[in-house]
Amino acid sequence: MPDTLFRFADTLGPLKIIHVYEPSVDLKAVLVVDNVAKGPSIGGVRMAPDVSTEECFRLARAMTMKNAAAGLPHGGGKVVVYGDPKMPKDEKSLKLRALASALRNEESYVFAPDMGTDEECMAWIRDEIGRVVALPRELGGIPLDEIGATGWGLSHVVEVACDFCNFDLAGARFAIQGFGAVGKHTARFLTNKGAVLIAASDSQGTIRNEGGLNVNELIQLKEKGKSVIEYPNGDCFDCDGIIDVECDIWIPAARPDVIHVENVERLNTKLIVQGANIPVTHAAEKLLSKKGILYVPDFIANAGGVICAAMEYHGANESAALAVIEEKVRRNTKLVLTRSKAESIEPRQAAIDLAIERVKTAMGFRRFSTFSMGPRFI
Ligand code: NAD
Repeated sequence: MPDTLFRFADTLGPLKIIHVYEPSVDLKAVLVVDNVAKGPSIGGVRMAPDVSTEECFRLARAMTMKNAAAGLPHGGGKVVVYGDPKMPKDEKSLKLRALASALRNEESYVFAPDMGTDEECMAWIRDEIGRVVALPRELGGIPLDEIGATGWGLSHVVEVACDFCNFDLAGARFAIQGFGAVGKHTARFLTNKGAVLIAASDSQGTIRNEGGLNVNELIQLKEKGKSVIEYPNGDCFDCDGIIDVECDIWIPAARPDVIHVENVERLNTKLIVQGANIPVTHAAEKLLSKKGILYVPDFIANAGGVICAAMEYHGANESAALAVIEEKVRRNTKLVLTRSKAESIEPRQAAIDLAIERVKTAMGFRRFSTFSMGPRFI
């Protein structure tokens, strides 16, 4: 029995796994609080029909690493709710309100949005119990996708990483896969720093112009519900064509696992800054290093969003949040890339080592945390 119940347990956590069931609204959900040594856990509520307890644990662990690497006073947690996120709004509201009520006293977890939930869902949770981040602006929230918190962080990561690649950001040519909340703001901030966007893609295809694409015009197209391929001055390819674009900086900001061992050889760039979560498989990351392509791993590069959410939780306004994102991601990128170079290890390993050390130090201050840190992580 203990073997089954504690199958995820390692030296970091999880601290608790709670299964929530409320038949009156057909609510089935799981909360995993992974590690709280650094503070109450923050992590999103994911709603999907095919989630599992194991996935919830893996996502909660990823948040432990991300929050620790970002230097936040928060641990990692996650909730998965079984259901179609496109269900009628009143049904969704009832389910999430019931979830919040059931977890009212779980103060080791702070609610946040993830796939299938948004600011409005967070407003319902706040109405029930408080203890939530990423609220609508009208409730004092900082709308992180609207202001481009993650893209703001990515643009600073790119700037720091350029110093490790021996080229200047001003005049550097970059390509972005995915032109949504992360991609479009990253493009905007990087062009403001003098870089030139030569290719962009979305789910409909890729647009390329060696002379540079006008980022504002692309953003306007997307805001009208159109695709980047409707931009008039460029060559169009299929979505996959973005992988072959020769450039200085390649930024995945769409989906997981888009670069894998079968297509990694096609990349023709010097630097990859991972905007999406796990856009490059771990096996392909190792090949990147062999090809001499530097990369900054996802949980270092795309931490702007969670830093913004944590700042909101602690009462900061938008400008203070942006300043803290800049300071934290620049510092962490430099630490990770310096360590990777000095110890001849993968940037991902350097980032994991940094995060585990921070959690370990925090655990050392606590009464109830036994650990002997083996290299066991997700
Ligand atoms: P989004 O839905 O706003 O945008 C996604 C974009 O990717 C869209 O333009 C879509 O058309 C495009 N896309 C989908 N499939 C594609 C394909 N096969 N090829 C090219 N483009 C494709 O999502 P987002 O918020 O920008 O998030 C993007 C990624 O970054 C996700 O992996 C997300 O988990 C991750 N992320 C987001 C944030 C954030 O603050 N929003 C923070 C950290 C990580």
